[in-house]
Amino acid sequence: MSTKFLIDNAKLIELSINENAEEIEKLDQEIGDGDHIFNVQRGIKLVIDLEPTIKDLPMSKALNTIAMKVLSGIGGSSGALFGTLFMTLAKGKNIDSGVDFNKSVEIFYDAVQAVKMRGKADIGEKTMMDVLIPVANTLKELNQKEESMETILNKVIEVAREGMLSTKELIATKGRASFLGERAKGHIDPGARSSQIMITTVCESVINS
Ligand code: ADP
Ligand code: MG
Repeated sequence: MSTKFLIDNAKLIELSINENAEEIEKLDQEIGDGDHIFNVQRGIKLVIDLEPTIKDLPMSKALNTIAMKVLSGIGGSSGALFGTLFMTLAKGKNIDSGVDFNKSVEIFYDAVQAVKMRGKADIGEKTMMDVLIPVANTLKELNQKEESMETILNKVIEVAREGMLSTKELIATKGRASFLGERAKGHIDPGARSSQIMITTVCESVINS
């Protein structure tokens, strides 16, 4: 993995998020305050605009630059949570000497644990963690079993979709949707949907590369 990988994937994510923008906006209008799509699109644009700044940086510095930009530039819960994700990725051990699939799995797993601590949300609370935690666990488990990268990523796509769909019937106990109680039932969590789209995009791009 290189800084080019980060930018290339940010560009692919921009396309897939834009394709689903109306749906994501509607989801946050139903159980949040409607700004989630704006936050996500702004975050992606900020990352893509960093291309000239980060393209020749070592991975740790590139990821840290992304983290700082995301933290300062995106509002809402998502800014703090994605900022934490990138900040933790940036601290991954030995990432400046190369990031292969094993290392990617390791640092992504650790980054998700950091996001979990930052937001104090676990599986079942109707947030993006219903996607991120199962995805991180699946990556780690299947990689330890030495399954092929393609098998693992296809399973991750499946698990991300199941996690996203699982939020529909949940009551939220974290985030704005928690103020709605039972009324949040029947609506997919916007952050779970945007995370699932982003994860699926990256998995498909790696499978097809
Ligand atoms: P805000 O809720 O501040 O308006 P966004 O609309 O950008 O921020 O993001 C909303 C999403 O953030 C929710 O759909 C949910 O997935 C996620 N979220 C909210 N609170 C938490 C939390 N404590 N931990 C993890 N994810 C959270
Ligand atoms: Mg919102």
